[in-house]
Amino acid sequence: MKQPLFGLTLEELAAIARSLDMPAFSARQMAGWLYARRVGSIDEMTNLSKKARFLLNEQYEPGISQPVKVQVSADGTKKYLFSTGSGKFVETAMIPEEERITVCVSSQVGCKMGCLFCMTGKQGFQGQLTAGEILNQVRSIEEAGRVTNIVYMGMGEPFDNLPEVLKSLEILSAPWGYAMSPRRITVSTIGIIPGMITFLEQSEAHLAVSLHSPFDEERKMLMPVQVAYPVTEVVREIRKWDFSRQRRVSFEYIVFRNLNDTDRHVRELARLLNGLSCRINLIRFHPIPGTPLKGTDDHTLQQFKDKLNERGILTTIRASRGQDIYAACGLLSTKELSS
Ligand code: SF4
Repeated sequence: MKQPLFGLTLEELAAIARSLDMPAFSARQMAGWLYARRVGSIDEMTNLSKKARFLLNEQYEPGISQPVKVQVSADGTKKYLFSTGSGKFVETAMIPEEERITVCVSSQVGCKMGCLFCMTGKQGFQGQLTAGEILNQVRSIEEAGRVTNIVYMGMGEPFDNLPEVLKSLEILSAPWGYAMSPRRITVSTIGIIPGMITFLEQSEAHLAVSLHSPFDEERKMLMPVQVAYPVTEVVREIRKWDFSRQRRVSFEYIVFRNLNDTDRHVRELARLLNGLSCRINLIRFHPIPGTPLKGTDDHTLQQFKDKLNERGILTTIRASRGQDIYAACGLLSTKELSS
């Protein structure tokens, strides 16, 4: 089977160039064709010699794949479905706003973290994505070339696939890759502390942490990861890093009716995050099959936000987008798996 070139770092392309007796500078040429110029075949890499292209074609392929399905929401949000082979699928969301186009990428097929509120978690873990498969979700959508922001908030836990996620981040921000500012990239985690530390050391992208409850027992019920990595320890680690300048940390908080939307939660959140330069993003919950959880009403949500802001925690409500097309992560691929 031919190996994909897309998703390889400059160093890896240089190793291929050496193995095929190509000049050293051809690694940069290949990277330029793959990332900046987005070619779909090796034959289009016209500044490589004919012999080099022939040798490359024998063992390698670009490794690009087109979406198998696209759904467009009434509000312009799109959900792309990519096949990763063997009947497995990952989802990518494209969210257009006035001055930006944000792509939400998946980092794994399914997920092993088992969060109670998540459709992807219900699928279970089905495999890791390579850096190429992560980046292909940005490269092969109709909006490719116009994407301004990338969030790793799709299927999977990015820090459970750390090497490939770090590789994809390197390619996104390297001058020989997409030359994208890491300040336009956000990686979201449920709080896998060792992976988070490595990410903070090796990347300059923003960090988002799924919080959902400041209370131990409640968070354990919602997110089993709380057993291994309690959120108090996650926040303790985050306090060691400087988020007061260009790099930001935010906390995602899905608001469930009569569960985590009380004054007790406001007080505990304010205590937990006291003095930390951060933001809370409140997220409306849209019911998924097989869970008793319900979303809170708009009035309570607004009050919850105001109370947190009054206590000095910068808090916003994230706009719900694409509800009519199953934009909540995991719904479309689950539908595809069962069809
Ligand atoms: S919320 Fe994220 S970490 Fe939790 S099960 Fe879903 S995809 Fe996995």
